[in-house]
Amino acid sequence: MVPPKQNSRRRYYDFIKAKGILKFKKNLEEEKKDSAKDENAVRKNAGYYLWRYISEFREHRSKIILIILLGLFNSLLGALFPWTSKVMIDYILPQKNIVLLSSACLALLVSAAMQRLLTFSKDYYSQILLGRFVLGLKQRQMEHLNTLPLVELQKMKIGGIISRLQDDSEGSGNLLFNGLLTPFNALIMFLIAIISLLVVNWKVMLICFIFCMIMFGITYFVFNIMRPFQRSLRQDRALINAGLAETFGGIQVIRSFRRENTIRKDYGTDINLLWRKSLYSFVIGSSVHIGAWTVFSITEISIWLVGGYFFINGTLSVGSIVVFISFTQWLFQPIFQIMFSFSEMQKSMACVERTFDLLDMKPDIVDKENTSNIVSFNEGIKFDNVDFVYPDGTKALDNVNFFIPKGKVMALVGPSGGGKTTLSNIVLRFYDVSSGSVSVDGTDIRNLSLSCYRSLMSLVLQDVFLFDGTIRENILFGNRNASEKELLHAAEVAHCHEFIDKLKDKYDTVIGERGVKLSGGQKQRIALARALIANPQLLILDEATSNLDSESEGLIQDALKKIFRDRTTIVIAHRLSTIIDADSIVVIDKGRILEQGSHFELLEKKGKYFDMYNKQMEKSKSIQNLWNAESAAQEEEEEK
Ligand code: ADP
Ligand code: MG
Repeated sequence: MVPPKQNSRRRYYDFIKAKGILKFKKNLEEEKKDSAKDENAVRKNAGYYLWRYISEFREHRSKIILIILLGLFNSLLGALFPWTSKVMIDYILPQKNIVLLSSACLALLVSAAMQRLLTFSKDYYSQILLGRFVLGLKQRQMEHLNTLPLVELQKMKIGGIISRLQDDSEGSGNLLFNGLLTPFNALIMFLIAIISLLVVNWKVMLICFIFCMIMFGITYFVFNIMRPFQRSLRQDRALINAGLAETFGGIQVIRSFRRENTIRKDYGTDINLLWRKSLYSFVIGSSVHIGAWTVFSITEISIWLVGGYFFINGTLSVGSIVVFISFTQWLFQPIFQIMFSFSEMQKSMACVERTFDLLDMKPDIVDKENTSNIVSFNEGIKFDNVDFVYPDGTKALDNVNFFIPKGKVMALVGPSGGGKTTLSNIVLRFYDVSSGSVSVDGTDIRNLSLSCYRSLMSLVLQDVFLFDGTIRENILFGNRNASEKELLHAAEVAHCHEFIDKLKDKYDTVIGERGVKLSGGQKQRIALARALIANPQLLILDEATSNLDSESEGLIQDALKKIFRDRTTIVIAHRLSTIIDADSIVVIDKGRILEQGSHFELLEKKGKYFDMYNKQMEKSKSIQNLWNAESAAQEEEEEK
């Protein structure tokens, strides 16, 4: 049984105790350990990613330079304003000349307008640069995901793929700003302020500088405390999301076992803990803010005190004091900005690493050079001494040899785990053989263009996947260019026309998410129509009839007979009664072919197939007997 979760208050205190949130040094050590763990997983060093990231912007070089220059001019223009206060107070106002005053104000107005214009242009070009980069990255990721091995995609899980496509690419874009442009601008601002103050009075500048360093120390300290906290908040949020996806994915199981209460309580505990942690992080964050502004106020007061003292002594003008007050903000703001962008930078860096790792993943199967195209085949498909080992070392096929002539039906039977699905995946070239070869009309399929080769075949699986949309859209997914006549024909052959015709909207009926509104047999028949409308030369049915009740199965059997007539087919079936008519039956177990032949040939051999067939017959006979007995008893009762 799953142990009940502790209540959130308990978990919160345990968390605080374990993390030692207020023990600065311990946190840093933990952080180092954590990042070492990450590095092990990644193998490449940060320099590699940074270099690669920077080279991504090679073609955007001119835009980056433009943005930097715009920022620089903006800061320089902004620095005029504190100085104008000094000029106004010390030089212009004492002259009492209205013309001079108005022209000075006009100049101020123009420079203010210019500054806004520069800010807008800088932000606009930044957005364009960011957009181009992120869109390009997303497209490349999508393109690459389409080439990756199925196993890798399954490992990433759907949630992982979505977060890579959406969050990681956007996070990667932000690195340029958090890691380069924002700190650069902040540094420029800081330097302008320091130099300006130095020009006015170095003693007062020193006071400002000391307070600034105090502030820097405080923010650095707090950001370091908060880092593991922020990370844990992010992890908690991700876990809650994953849990929710799981809960509502398996809602039927939850309801059937009446676990709604447990789920509700666990969810309550989780969000409560998350809330407590966010509250803690808010308290710390805003304390820093308050602390920082207090330091700022103290700095201002000190300037008034010391500057006022120098004024009384006659060594400092009123205008100079005003310059100091204004530039103090210029000193403090960049520090905040730099600290903030560095903490954001770590997040962005993680996104960049994940993005490049994805793009570096080896594609599954790549077309060789000089592959030939194939539009149809005439002889058949041949397996020659095929071995296949999964990447994890499981040997799934061992020296498999067979030939399917064009237009014939081959059935694959055997115990589950025997290698039937693996074999059909190899025919579809989802995987390449480990040794041996698969050939079509004598040409190794590795020498054919992959997309051409796959267009020869259609696949129907046991677990039918229908897309959210109308029945028409789902069937036409097999062939977007099919005509209405072809659509109706495919639906009729697959025996789904009758039930579709009875629906209110007929072919335009929307089937809900994953087609929940249809029965298993109906979904299966639509999937069959979808496979047929593609008019494949090779049809692969992997336990496509296992889920059906006997009525739907009868219908599908009938459909299959029509379909099999002139089409090469590989049919994997559990119920042997469905494949008696196949031209050839291959019995496969533990990756090896045990027997091969027609139904009657194999029965005569009295081998594995004979045993399997008899067992199934006995089972169905005993079920039949049970039925008979029950109905006899019922009849008797009725007679009484
Ligand atoms: P069948 O379809 O006959 O039930 P499969 O072809 O699915 O059998 O499986 C054959 C063997 O390969 C089994 O031992 C199974 O555990 C293994 N196998 C299947 N898929 C994978 C995979 N993606 N990675 C590793 N091993 C796998
Ligand atoms: Mg299987």
